[in-house]
Amino acid sequence: MRTLYWMTNDLRLDDNAALSFAARSSELALVYVINPDWFVEGQYGLIPMGVHRWQFLQQSLADLSASLEGRGHRLNILRGDPPAVISELIDQFQFQHVIVSRQFGFDEIAQITLLRGLFPDVAFSAVDTYTLFNLNALPMPVSEIPETYSRFRRKAEKMKVRSPGCAPAELPEAIKLDREESSLDEIVDLGAHHRLRGGETAAKAHAEFYFSGELPLSYKLVRNELDGWENSSKFSAWLNSGCFSARRFVDLLSEFEQYRERNDSTYWLYVELLWREYFQWLALKIGKKLFLKSGNSAHRILGRFDTGPFSAWCHGETRYPLVNACMKQLRATGYLSNRGRQIAASCLINEMDGDWRYGAAWFESQLIDYDVAANWGNWQYLAGVGADPKGGRHFSITKQTEIYDADSRFRSRWLT
Ligand SMILES: Cc1cc2nc3c(=O)[nH]c(=O)nc-3n(C[C@H](O)[C@H](O)[C@H](O)COP(=O)(O)OP(=O)(O)OC[C@H]3O[C@@H](n4cnc5c(N)ncnc54)[C@H](O)[C@@H]3O)c2cc1C
Repeated sequence: MRTLYWMTNDLRLDDNAALSFAARSSELALVYVINPDWFVEGQYGLIPMGVHRWQFLQQSLADLSASLEGRGHRLNILRGDPPAVISELIDQFQFQHVIVSRQFGFDEIAQITLLRGLFPDVAFSAVDTYTLFNLNALPMPVSEIPETYSRFRRKAEKMKVRSPGCAPAELPEAIKLDREESSLDEIVDLGAHHRLRGGETAAKAHAEFYFSGELPLSYKLVRNELDGWENSSKFSAWLNSGCFSARRFVDLLSEFEQYRERNDSTYWLYVELLWREYFQWLALKIGKKLFLKSGNSAHRILGRFDTGPFSAWCHGETRYPLVNACMKQLRATGYLSNRGRQIAASCLINEMDGDWRYGAAWFESQLIDYDVAANWGNWQYLAGVGADPKGGRHFSITKQTEIYDADSRFRSRWLT
């Protein structure tokens, strides 16, 4: 079978069920498509792919290319409108089978649906590589994903996560696409604060670092700190680019619990990972509603877009020093702690009466670990129109400052 594996957020060899499936073909082409729309202002006047994520993505692609070349294969990195590029390839090379990882974003799903319609004779397979559970083995059918996380969690916690698989021992013959490949930009120096490096190699090194020490044992006690590399796992960017598998993460965590120690913190890491899981399946269930101002709820919410205040929020120039420090950290590094994200989002929604969707779009542009379901889902949750749609969450900035930055260290670091 001539197979095209369209790689997306699955940029790894390890525990990649899509790659293992593709490895059963007789001939195979591996393709990644860079969409020019990622770099053009979208609906909210913002560029979806900011510099940090772009850098991380390029590093991930370079790392994957090198790994594949080591196995006599290649990753064809092309540029263009994804359905148009994939359509041309199917026509030109007569692919019989297209494999892609399951997508959770509305636009990404629409692209695959379009392709399926254009090529009824081609087999399309969507493989679960991004989540802990497969579509056909969820705690409940997608149509019954509950409105509250706690109800999902109660059932999901009782389920066993499938063990991760290894990289395929061999890959089939590579089909030469003789297409002009998209060259990657020169990697720029993003400064000393930038510690996240894209790619499966860096992800594995980070896993070795994280699980070989004591950090998982104190996770729950320090996860809400505003700063500090060691206060949370920092796996998100690797999980969301697919450089690291969520199942591998759980496997390492279980191993840690078995051979080192199991406590509240190790358990809580899993609970947080289930939030990621929940948001994926919720996004699949609610589709376009993930992006609506009223979200998944029936009530209309206020909140308006005002250029001046919104720009001040984005650039850390509000009258709230703690929020400003968060926003400057985000711009400088592409990363912000979960507590920082909550404080900044709550400020835009509650203190500034802003339209939450613009905040979500700014995070999309800035976050190195952007994930469509987690980002828009968390924003909806805070705005009170998403999961658990009972009034949103309001974080008192004064109180948060007293708890998390009483000694001004965080503000001093990021406001200078
Ligand atoms: C407004 C807002 C926007 C967010 N946008 C994103 C996003 O685009 N991408 C993203 O991965 N996370 C997002 N989060 C969730 C969370 O802030 C990050 O996952 C976390 O800070 C990443 O750091 P970590 O890997 O050290 O997390 P850890 O605290 O070590 O957690 C372990 C893993 O659990 C998952 N996780 C933890 N908290 C959440 C959560 N609330 N929702 C979903 N998954 C979670 C992540 O995969 C994370 O890597 C957002 C949160 C808020 C409040």
